[in-house]
Amino acid sequence: MPLGPFNADASIPTDNTTGVTDGKPVAPEDGGLFANITNNPYFSAGFGLLGVGAAMTVLRKGSTLGASYLRRRLLVTLEIPSKDKSYLWFLQWMSHQAPKRQVQHLAVETSYRQHDNGSVTTKFGLVPGPGTHYFKWHGIWMQVQRQRDGKMMDLSTGSPWETITVTTLSRDRQVLTELLQEAQEMALQKQQGKTVIYTSYGPEWRPFGMPRRRRMLDSVILDTGIKERIVKDVKAFIGNGSWYNERGIPYRRGYLLYGEPGSGKSSFIQALAGELEYNICILNLSERGLTDDRLNHLLSNVPERSIMLLEDIDAAFTKRAQSDNQGYQSMITFSGLLNALDGVASAEERIIFLTTNHIEKLDPALIRPGRVDLKEHLGNASPSQIRGMFTRFYQDRPELADLFIEKVKDHPISTASLQGHFVYFKDRPEEAIERADMLWDQL
Ligand code: ADP
Repeated sequence: MPLGPFNADASIPTDNTTGVTDGKPVAPEDGGLFANITNNPYFSAGFGLLGVGAAMTVLRKGSTLGASYLRRRLLVTLEIPSKDKSYLWFLQWMSHQAPKRQVQHLAVETSYRQHDNGSVTTKFGLVPGPGTHYFKWHGIWMQVQRQRDGKMMDLSTGSPWETITVTTLSRDRQVLTELLQEAQEMALQKQQGKTVIYTSYGPEWRPFGMPRRRRMLDSVILDTGIKERIVKDVKAFIGNGSWYNERGIPYRRGYLLYGEPGSGKSSFIQALAGELEYNICILNLSERGLTDDRLNHLLSNVPERSIMLLEDIDAAFTKRAQSDNQGYQSMITFSGLLNALDGVASAEERIIFLTTNHIEKLDPALIRPGRVDLKEHLGNASPSQIRGMFTRFYQDRPELADLFIEKVKDHPISTASLQGHFVYFKDRPEEAIERADMLWDQL
């Protein structure tokens, strides 16, 4: 039977056009039509179907509303956007909590750092991937949804916008705070007694790999007085903010360590950070895609208690004309660098270390007082450094140090090569002295 629309013309009787129905006057056409419609069996069937459809919609709507009402009453959700600090803490915490059988979709978080010589260091960490995960913590079931928004992007980092939603029963809502606290403690505990190295990721600072064990200051052997001068200067600077504030000058101090490669510049900064219980933010100015704006942003948003380190500062400008093998090049300008270093906008404490192997290549404007307040030369090993290195490696044979110094003192040798030599002749000081020529023959 066709369920199509009825044929109105064919079914309208002529005697029902008087304009009166049940004694009430109605418009002649309307009344006739209405009466005919109700009498029409096809229409009634259609109307009935419509009614059933409507009722079902209402029911469906009702059950959806009911479900969302129940969800609202019974469940509690916590949303952590990828911009939030807790986001990484939570992911790391979860990768610890959830045994492998509970989390099937894993995602890799790779930290990446390109060194000046072009080599790349990467570290991998497995975290729960996008999707829905269920797990139990302290006897309470939770649902974790990691959602990636296909359309929204974090413009600053270029990474897709993500949200983690943790859902649990309302009565267990206190567990969410506990969980965040534990995640935070876990992240901070990992850093205790350690130095966190941050590298730039877009305009943000992100920890690079796991925090490292602090390097002891006396493991770095510098020429007499250098270490003490720098440590004293930095310590005097820290905690002296009011002096700078009262005089309206930016609370910053710049240091330049220059000298031959392998003289301990980076190692010293790492040890200094350990001594001060600070972290280190390393920025490579030749990094691809680095612009003045990004540089400025990075330098004015350094994580608290961090030393800012700009390594091989000369390379940023001498290499500018060439692009790296991937066809990218840094786009910072010299004046952009000066502005970022001056950090006029920042009222917070800034400790900036610059290092270079070629001080003669630096523009004097870069290292004028105010930008660089203390310059120290870390050169090839002096006799006192050679002695220091020798006795550190051969602690029970200090009497042999003079013999070694006598053999090597006329050759320029970096402390890094001395270290290599002593590691090679580990526990064999006599041989280290006898084969001292290896130090310059292999150069
Ligand atoms: P630079 O930054 O001057 O090129 P690094 O600090 O990277 O030198 O040193 C390279 C390696 O040599 C490190 O493993 C470090 O331990 C060792 N080294 C270099 N200089 C010293 C020093 N003065 N004292 C102790 N170790 C040193």
